Amino acid sequence: MTIMKNKIKKLIILIVIVVAASGFSDEAKREPVTGILAAMPVEIQMLESQLKEKKTEKILGIEFHSGVLNGRNVVLAVGGMGKVNAAMTSTLLIDHFRPSEIVFSGVAGGLNPDLGPGDIVLGEKTAQHDYGEITALGFTPQPTGKDIPLFMNAPERLIALAEAAAKDAAMEKVPTTQGERLPRIIRGVIVTGDVFVASSIKTAELRKMFNADAVEMEGAAVAQVCWKQKVPCLIIRCICDKADASANADFELFLKSAATNSSKLTMSLMKLLAKPQ
Ligand code: SAH
Repeated sequence: MTIMKNKIKKLIILIVIVVAASGFSDEAKREPVTGILAAMPVEIQMLESQLKEKKTEKILGIEFHSGVLNGRNVVLAVGGMGKVNAAMTSTLLIDHFRPSEIVFSGVAGGLNPDLGPGDIVLGEKTAQHDYGEITALGFTPQPTGKDIPLFMNAPERLIALAEAAAKDAAMEKVPTTQGERLPRIIRGVIVTGDVFVASSIKTAELRKMFNADAVEMEGAAVAQVCWKQKVPCLIIRCICDKADASANADFELFLKSAATNSSKLTMSLMKLLAKPQ
């Protein structure tokens, strides 16, 4: 009887080991994948058209496109505008696809006077500009939790890779009054809030309060989800307007070319991520 029990015990241990080992090797076998997010379809259009071996699955109403982009395994998704949409899509992407990193590729309003439509800001730091306290004296920004920093820092590795990727991204030129010039790619502060900024009073405030280079509506939300889940994250934004009184008109005018420049940089970044590091 005891011999029988021992045999069963050994068998159970063996089964547990085999199941655990197969689980581990599954994890080890899994190729790294980069999550690429955007807010609007136009921001991902070019990337989606270049996606090889495309497979689409819908999770809680959001389409996730898996495939190979410039040699790198990726998952693309359009999450919609604003922080709630961005947080929901990032969470679903992390939970279902376990990405090695997340890159947000999209357009933004420029706050840095040196930047014009077509120039790119790599979000070295991101912050939510509309989270905080309003008193009679005005608005004070605050971190969104005791353990959460006001500014999320992007990993140096991803910023440096994006800078290197910019060199062969073949981006569209930037129109100026003196003719066209090559797009500038800067590391900077990107601020995020649930509003489209089209006021030079607000741009001056955001520049003063956060020393921000660009304003948009999703980046810091994605960065916070990634920070909490320990997923490296980089926000790439191409300027399409200057967040001033002409912002609505400029947005319409430059949306497509700005989305293209951000996508081209993201494409080149995938090529570098695909190389063994
Ligand atoms: N009128 C447009 C507004 C789009 S919102 C529409 O309804 O389609 C702007 C989108 O582009 C957001 O996803 C945001 O991240 C980015 N963006 C571009 N310029 C912006 C600005 N000046 N302020 C805030 N977000 C901006």
